Amino acid sequence: KLHNMVEDLKGSIRVFCRVRPLSKKETGQGDSSICEAVDQMTVKVKEEQFLFDAVFTPGTQDEVFEDCRDLVQSAADGYNVTMFAYGQTGAGKTFTMYGTKGNEGTAPRTIQEIFRVTAQGSDRFSYTVSGSMLELYCNNIVDLLSKANPSQSKAKLNIRQEKNGNVSVEGLVEEECSTADELMALLERGNEQRTVAATAMNSESSRSHLVLIIKIISVNKETKEVLKGKMLMCDLAGSERLKKSEVTEHQQTEAIAINKSLTALGDVIEALTKGGKGVVPYRNHKLTMLMQDSLGGTAKTLMFVNCSPASSNLDETFMSLKYAQRAK
Ligand code: ADP
Ligand code: MG
Repeated sequence: KLHNMVEDLKGSIRVFCRVRPLSKKETGQGDSSICEAVDQMTVKVKEEQFLFDAVFTPGTQDEVFEDCRDLVQSAADGYNVTMFAYGQTGAGKTFTMYGTKGNEGTAPRTIQEIFRVTAQGSDRFSYTVSGSMLELYCNNIVDLLSKANPSQSKAKLNIRQEKNGNVSVEGLVEEECSTADELMALLERGNEQRTVAATAMNSESSRSHLVLIIKIISVNKETKEVLKGKMLMCDLAGSERLKKSEVTEHQQTEAIAINKSLTALGDVIEALTKGGKGVVPYRNHKLTMLMQDSLGGTAKTLMFVNCSPASSNLDETFMSLKYAQRAK
C-alpha cells in the first residue's frame, strides 16, 4: 500500500486554483487580466500572492485531470472522496467539473477512469458501481433521477447518518451502472432534470449545489473482504454577493441560503485543516451533513477555486481566493 502512504503524506485536502481566460465580452469592455501565475503553485492578484497545491491559468482539462486521477484509485480502494468547485458564477466551475462535449471536465473523466480501474482490478475484485444525483436548493434536497416531476419531488428528502458514520439520503434513487456510457447517461439525465427543476422553482441552476454521488463497492474474490468507496462531486452554487438593490425578494432568499451553506462548508474545512481537534461543525448545514463521511477522517478532498481574471471581478476573485486560503 505504498501508493496510499504517499498520498496520506500529501495531506487529505488539496486545493487547486483555476483561472479561466478572459472572455470576448470582457476583452471587449476593456477588462484586463488581474491574475498572474507566479509559479505552478502561486497566483498573484494585485501584489497579493496566494499559495495552492496547484495553479492552472487555465491549464487544459487533461492537465487538471492528471492531478485528480489518483483519487479514483482511492475510491476503488474503499476511500471516500469529495471534489468540489467553488467560485462566482461564470468563473468556470461547471467547465472544470463537467466541461463541454469534446472538452470533457473532471466528472466525465472520472467516470472513464472508474471503469478503467475496475476493469484492471477485475481478476482480484468484483466491483459494483452506482450513481445518484441531487441538488441542494434553498436547503431542500431534490432528487435529479427521480421520475416524479420536479414540483412534486420538492418533497424534502432527509439525510441520515448510520451508526458506522455512513451518510445517506433517504429515498434517493441510486442506479447501478455497468459501463462508463451508462453512468454518463445518468449524469446527462440528471443535468437535464436540473434545468427543468430550476425553471419549475423560478430559479437558475447556478443558484443550487449540484452533487453527483458515485459509489464503488469492491469484493475481494479470495477473502470476500468488502470495501466501500464513495465519490462526491459537487458543482457549488455561485459564491457571488448580490447587491440588495438589484435583486427580487426571491433571489435575496436564495442568496442568503447559498451564503449560509458556503460559510458552513468553509467552517468545516477550516476546522479540519486545524487538525480537526475541536468539534467539526458538520451539522450546521445540509451541505456539510451530506459531506460528513467524505470530508475529514480518512476521506480525501479536492477543492477547486475557480476565478475570473477580469479586472471588473476583482472583489469576487479576492473573496474566492481568501475563502480557499482557509483550507490551507
Ligand atoms: P460557472 O459554472 O462557474 O458559472 P462556467 O463553467 O459556466 O462557469 O464558465 C463560464 C464560461 O467560461 C463558459 O462559457 C466556459 O466555457 C468558459 N470557461 C470556463 N473555464 C474555462 C477554461 N478553463 N477554459 C476556457 N473556457 C472556460
Ligand atoms: Mg455553472
